[in-house]
Amino acid sequence: MRASFWTDLLDFIAPRTCAICGRWLSSREECICISCICDIPFASYHLHPLDNPMARLFWGLFPVEKVAALFFYQPRTQPYHLIHDLKYHYAPEIGQYLGRLMVKRMQPHGFFDDIDAIIPMPITWLRRIHRGYNQSEEIAKGIHELTGIPIYNNVVKRHRFKHSQTKLSIRQRRENVRDAFHLNKSEKVRGKHVLLIDDVITTGSTITACAEELTKAGDIRISVLSIGLTK
Ligand SMILES: [Zn+2]
Repeated sequence: MRASFWTDLLDFIAPRTCAICGRWLSSREECICISCICDIPFASYHLHPLDNPMARLFWGLFPVEKVAALFFYQPRTQPYHLIHDLKYHYAPEIGQYLGRLMVKRMQPHGFFDDIDAIIPMPITWLRRIHRGYNQSEEIAKGIHELTGIPIYNNVVKRHRFKHSQTKLSIRQRRENVRDAFHLNKSEKVRGKHVLLIDDVITTGSTITACAEELTKAGDIRISVLSIGLTK
């Protein structure tokens, strides 16, 4: 009751707005309004995490375990604005919120069971300086908050790409990212089941390159989770 009073008062003084439509949020809403939540095209791959169309992106490329995404992602749709703000408009709280949202949807189905550590997809130091944070780390913080699963940062280091990924074919992307990752602390992940976190997965080539580097640790199990899956 008391918390609700203060939330209502704070909302009156400095109203919080929906990250998608910009409407004022009620004290019961967090980050996104109920109306926008209802319009999000949620994916349900976490119900069949071992075999789904997203998991098949990685079959034969590295020994993948569970794979899921929170929602399907297309340019000019509502979730697009969410990811865009997270990446380009300094909104780390959106990443943490989406991390918590994934736990609320997926934990009841056992998605996080037997995961030993979360590994946020690393970004280059230059991009981190520009953005102010690593968006995957913010998503990981939200997951950690509700599950208690530890976050391993800096296990894999990322270097700059030789070419921009945007206009390359799938084969060219794979070649481009192959040398972008470097395993830094193999002893930390050896014998563990890790959950690799990314914001959006399109072809899976970046995740694959990072996972290939992680497998060099030996005796490691890798699951993959992203906010968006490009359709
Ligand atoms: Zn809204």
